[in-house]
Amino acid sequence: MNTNIKQAQELDQQDTLHHFRSEFYIPEKSIYLDGNSLGLLSKRAEKAIDAAVQSWKDYAIDGWTEGENPWYYLSENLGVMSAPLIGAEPDEIVVTGSTTTNLHQLTATFYKPEGKKTKILADELNFPSDIYALKSQLKLKGYNPDEHLIQVQSSDGHTLRTEDIVAKMSDEIALIVLPGVLYRSGQVLDMKTLTKEAHQRGILIGFDLCHSIGSIPHSLSEWDVDFAFWCTYKHLNAGPGSVAGLYVNRKHFGTEPGLAGWFSSAKEKQFDMDHTLTPAENAGAYQIGTPHLLSLAPLLGSLEMFEEAGMEEIRRKSLRLTGYLMELIENELGGYEFKIANPKDETTRGGHVLLEHKEAARICRALKADGVVPDFRKPDGIRLAPVALYNSFEDVWKSVQILKRIMDEEKFKKYENKRGVIA
Ligand SMILES: *Cc1c(COP(=O)(O)O)cnc(C)c1O
Repeated sequence: MNTNIKQAQELDQQDTLHHFRSEFYIPEKSIYLDGNSLGLLSKRAEKAIDAAVQSWKDYAIDGWTEGENPWYYLSENLGVMSAPLIGAEPDEIVVTGSTTTNLHQLTATFYKPEGKKTKILADELNFPSDIYALKSQLKLKGYNPDEHLIQVQSSDGHTLRTEDIVAKMSDEIALIVLPGVLYRSGQVLDMKTLTKEAHQRGILIGFDLCHSIGSIPHSLSEWDVDFAFWCTYKHLNAGPGSVAGLYVNRKHFGTEPGLAGWFSSAKEKQFDMDHTLTPAENAGAYQIGTPHLLSLAPLLGSLEMFEEAGMEEIRRKSLRLTGYLMELIENELGGYEFKIANPKDETTRGGHVLLEHKEAARICRALKADGVVPDFRKPDGIRLAPVALYNSFEDVWKSVQILKRIMDEEKFKKYENKRGVIA
């Protein structure tokens, strides 16, 4: 089948989210398909950063309690704004720390080995930082991670089967930590079923939402998930090093934070400067120290856009974009030994497409040289993430044409088949 640019342009005309694209800074002459690694800057996020700087200029120390967005309450207020993205109640969320420090905090808080229940269950496909954190938490409690970290195996190297995970939920497991969406294949895990199965066995379960927040809707309260954590620089477009988030189910409110600091305090008590901590009676208790205000600010602008667009609409468009991308790849690149390695089904497909090819590293370099920004994932993966808020169907169409030309003309052969320092 022949595809053409007019078809892509028609899809853009029907797209109800198309107007958001003009609110973003899209690097010149480039088609950006890497928003699942670092989302683009929006004008609203930029304005929010400027306002935070202005607040510092205008108010100095009083910025903690004055101005439009007083710093002292910003982590909690951004939690309120994040609630619709994860389907939880506002006081169950706080925007704080980084993904990895939040995982440390939540593991330190909820991993309570007792009797036979001493092990942590994770998976072999998760992002390394999560695994490093879990291993170090085990060591801190005096356990050997080789024996106490159980990692569910993948049968195909890309995805995890719910039944394989459930089969590992033995009576030795105290805690489960899994991703909501796998970072490489983009598989969406069945968080609802996994939570139900864990709870039937008396196991606490938490999810890493780095690749799912802002990409797919969640119903953490309804699913009764115990805790979750996520970064905000990927699909949430809050900028490099922006402050992360965490969720704690209200049934756990009052559980003492494993890693305490003065920002764990109940707000009205914090400045009593007492040496006995009175923790906040909500998710705020799992903060540690002073929040990174200048890296919190951009979220004010970017979360506003999610509220306006709505997560259901974003997901609908995202599925159309990845569906269109897969269709074009199948139609145009049939002869080039690409393998679509993400789940194709709409219930398990996340926000990006994973293309595998033995020349992936240098194909990525050629794509970048021709203005398409993908990302490479070892050993042979090309991740392409058309993002609902700023990518168009025309972007997708053009990207596949550019990739086709690279393959037709073997342009990738100009490069070494090696990854860069950041890939
Ligand atoms: C991006 C990502 C991280 C990054 O952790 P930071 O602490 O933000 O550096 C961790 N886990 C997963 C699954 C990720 O996708």
